Amino acid sequence: MSSPITKTSSVLPPAPVDVPMVRLENVEKHYGPLHVLQNINLTIKPREVVVIIGPSGSGKSTLCRTINRLETIDSGVISVDGKELPAEGAALARLRAEVGMVFQSFNLFAHKTILENIMLAPTKVRKISRRQSEAEAMKLLERVGISTQAHKYPAELSGGQQQRAAIARALAMNPKVMLFDEPTSALDPEMVNEVLNVMTDLANEGMTMLVVTHEMGFARRAADRVVFMDQGQIVEQNTPVEFFDSPQTERARSFLSSVL
Ligand code: ADP
Ligand code: MG
Repeated sequence: MSSPITKTSSVLPPAPVDVPMVRLENVEKHYGPLHVLQNINLTIKPREVVVIIGPSGSGKSTLCRTINRLETIDSGVISVDGKELPAEGAALARLRAEVGMVFQSFNLFAHKTILENIMLAPTKVRKISRRQSEAEAMKLLERVGISTQAHKYPAELSGGQQQRAAIARALAMNPKVMLFDEPTSALDPEMVNEVLNVMTDLANEGMTMLVVTHEMGFARRAADRVVFMDQGQIVEQNTPVEFFDSPQTERARSFLSSVL
């Protein structure tokens, strides 16, 4: 197993940092009486890795899902790469394609091979030729270390391999930002690192990422910023060193003492 990789300088040229890649302004959302997102303000700069942590039920998944409108919001503004999210239609589909998402449950199509899973969106949505899409899919499978599994069905792969396939599938659309919602929570412990290592590589390559995770080691070494949520609010955000070594609020201290 490879050792944890520290986030290092990327090979990419510097991106303009004045336009946030993701921006949420005064976002509010209710589920009936439950105020699940309360005045959320969050920006993610190009190439930044932001890790969201917090207790179960604090609104982390809901927040992630609003960013590509898998969930509606009651008020506020969400923009991706400077463009406000349209409510529906072709413009929304285009914007969604710029946001890759990886879920706790791998969500691969069971009756399609790994290769077909990855080729699906590029050929159907982007209208890329099968030949080109297959070549690109194979490169992505190599990148996540499972090219030998290309012609297997999801059920024939381990959980860690399936999640790496799901990451490759999201990358196939060339997203500008990747959202990960507890990508390792459904995995057996011995498979967690193979997925975290792929994510660390992506971060080092300069991908803009929002990651919800309970893996505090990953947060410490890969995050540029840690955002702590509790009961629908962003309670604290800071660099990982500051957050883990000197949390500012009692809520963060008590959460950390329960998980560390
Ligand atoms: P987290 O990901 O931090 O565990 P979630 O965003 O999944 O939290 O959920 C936040 C709160 O919203 C929880 O209390 C949850 O039960 C509630 N919730 C989530 N989805 C729905 C929904 N579709 N309808 C009603 N309540 C929901
Ligand atoms: Mg969740």
